[in-house]
Amino acid sequence: VNFTELGLIPPLLARLTELEYNQPTPIQSQAIPSVLKGRDLIAGANTGSGKTATFALPMLQHLFMQQQSEKTLSSKSRKGNFVAGLILVPTRELAKQVADNIKSYAVHFNGAIKTVAVFGGVSANTQMLALRGGTDILVATPGRLLDLISSNAIKLDRVKTLVLDEADRMLSLGFSEELSELLGLLPKQKQTLLFSATFPEQVQVLTKELLTEPVEIQL
Ligand code: AMP
Repeated sequence: VNFTELGLIPPLLARLTELEYNQPTPIQSQAIPSVLKGRDLIAGANTGSGKTATFALPMLQHLFMQQQSEKTLSSKSRKGNFVAGLILVPTRELAKQVADNIKSYAVHFNGAIKTVAVFGGVSANTQMLALRGGTDILVATPGRLLDLISSNAIKLDRVKTLVLDEADRMLSLGFSEELSELLGLLPKQKQTLLFSATFPEQVQVLTKELLTEPVEIQL
């Protein structure tokens, strides 16, 4: 299969060609069609598998197409301190890397989709400024995200898609409590995608609580 057959739209396909992504990786070809349909997903996938594009491309496509349809209804989509696509990651390096990837995939959306990364270890001020007016996509480490929520810099009650990236690492780094707290702030009705290299008990419990009839992919 090629990316066109997976159901991706031209502005994303054009970018994939530019990036010389000539062919989807196995996880991309197996997961992208279901994720585009709105299904939940649980995927056993390591770094290098192409997992970032697996969640990023459908998320970008959903948000862009929604924005296009709202435009014709002349209503505003990004309003207040809300986020529509939330990606939780264990480390600041991963947060930056994922956000950079998303921004790169979105270049032919001409600024229509805003992506912000927030993580600990640096001052929150710049991140608070970046979040003013809300963002379409937020890539975040759990602790800093909770801080920003307490400062009213961002609200999670309009999240449509949640991604847990490297869920096993997030839990093994001790983010279990932060994660529970964050998950409690999210709307019940949403699409959830969970990626993990390993599936220890803690991840399995999380999976049961969080996912509804997920598509399962084990590479
Ligand atoms: P990831 O597993 O998401 O960390 O991606 C690993 C690397 O593979 C990243 O540098 C991606 O830019 C690249 N990549 C992802 N999907 C493809 C693809 N279909 N073809 C070529 N490179 C890809």
